[in-house]
Parts: sequence; structure tokens; C-alpha cells
Amino acid sequence: MKRKHFLKTLAILPIAGTAMKLSSLNKMAESFGDTEPMPVMFMGHGSPMNAIEENDFVRGFRKMGEGIPTPNAVICVSAHWETKGTFVTAMEKPPTIHDFGGFPQALFDVEYPAPGSPALAKEMQTLVTKTAVGLDEQWGLDHGAWSVIKHLYPRADVPVIQLSLDYSQPPQYHYDLARQLSALRKKGVLIIGSGNMVHNLGKVAWNRLNETGFGFDWAIEANDKMKTSILSGDHTDLINFKTQGKAFDLAIPTPEHYLPLLYVLALQNKDEKPTFFNDQAVGGALTMTSVKIEKA
Ligand code: ZN
Repeated sequence: MKRKHFLKTLAILPIAGTAMKLSSLNKMAESFGDTEPMPVMFMGHGSPMNAIEENDFVRGFRKMGEGIPTPNAVICVSAHWETKGTFVTAMEKPPTIHDFGGFPQALFDVEYPAPGSPALAKEMQTLVTKTAVGLDEQWGLDHGAWSVIKHLYPRADVPVIQLSLDYSQPPQYHYDLARQLSALRKKGVLIIGSGNMVHNLGKVAWNRLNETGFGFDWAIEANDKMKTSILSGDHTDLINFKTQGKAFDLAIPTPEHYLPLLYVLALQNKDEKPTFFNDQAVGGALTMTSVKIEKA
């Protein structure tokens, strides 16, 4: 009898788990409702100073924000949150993280008090089956997120959660994981990747930062090649960026600023087209090229 009871309990357990998952899905559906698929954006964030300066890039961000229906929430994959394993920020009030050094006090004074969304964070645990998603209470919003999102939603009235980059995983993992977030686009959730397509700080010509559009040959070559692949809709070479030759090797010395692009591309539907904005090199070794994907 005891054994029978034990088996019965085992049989009930998965059902209880499913019931829990369903109720959390319903909860979000109630509060968010169905929408047309939100666009997806890769935003080249560049210098943290873009958070407080007035320049063409900032105007580009603002324009993008104005051209999109106000989302129910934002999920940001930032170059600046790398973890072992995959996490989402799950706090009610994510703190503004000033994760840089050597900048003016005015930049450290910036606060971006957008609320979090513990409900959406939990929803991610249900949606993502590729890996376990941990709920994080320690991080917040890093400058990869707030330095661009503040230009989209200056009133900080749209909830924002961050999804971390698992540094132990290969590029294909990130692409596949992103695809599992697709349903959220139809719940009014704006998914943003924040990084830079070409990002080699070791090779930046610091004395030429003010030269508009200056990029080294390899930087322009890599950026152009990336744009061609993005427009073609075939992301194979972009996923296999490590075997694309010298220009790519120089453009992507470490993957963290590039990988957020893969999250955005992975979410492209068949009837959608990418367009570019802020398409400019800075200091030789960075590009601000940003991508918006939406229905053609
Ligand atoms: Zn950065």
C-alpha cells in the first residue's frame, strides 16, 4: 500500500507543475493582452556618455522609441551582464548600476528608476525550455541597458528586465535560446539587444574620436559583411563568426558586445525585414550600427 501511495504522489507531481506554469502564463496574458508582434532591436550603445550627451546617436535612439507602440515591458540582453548559466533580473525595483570608471560625475549621478517585472521574469522560466533560467535579485540595470533605454522611455515608466549572457555557451546556444522568447513579442514585449557589432577597445584611435564616421578598413569590412548577412536573412555566417576571417577576428575580439545581435536576429519572422540606423563607425574600431526588425 505504501508503495502504491508513493507512485500516486509521483504521478501527481508533474501535473501540479504544469498547473503552476499555466496559471503563471494566464496571469501574464491577463495583464499584458495580445498585440501585433513588437519590433525587435539591436542597439549599438558605444560610450556610456551617450546616456547624457546630445548627439546623432541619441537622436537616432529617440526616433526609434517614438516609432514603436509603447511596450508593456522591455527585455534587454546587454553586453555588460555575463554569467555562468542564464538569469533574468526579478526584482520589483532594479537599481541603476554604474558599471564603468573614469567618467564624469554627471554620468554616475544618472538614475533610471524603471520598475522591474517579477511576473515577466517568472514567465521566462516557463517559456525557456532550453535551459534553466535563474531569478536574479542582485543585478539591476547596467549601462548597456539604461544608457539606451532612457532615450526610448525617458519617463522610466516601462518595466525593464535584463536577460544575462551565459559566457560558457557557444553562439548557436544564444540564437536558439532567443527563439524561445518569440511569443512575448505578441504580448507587447520589446526585446532589445544592446552591444556593438564591431567593438575592439584595444584598437580604438582615441585621438580620432571626434572624426565623424572614422572606421579602420577591417572595421568597415566586418561591419559591411555583417550588414549583408543581416539583409540576406541567412544568419549562418553570423552565428559562425569565429571562422569568418581576419576582419571579423579584429571586430569581435571578445563576443559579449556581438552576441546580443544574435538574440535580435533569431527573433526575425519570415515576413519581417531588418533596417539599419545609427550606421556609423566611431574611433576606428567601434560601430554604432543598430538594427530594427519589423514587418515589411
Ligand atoms: Zn559596452
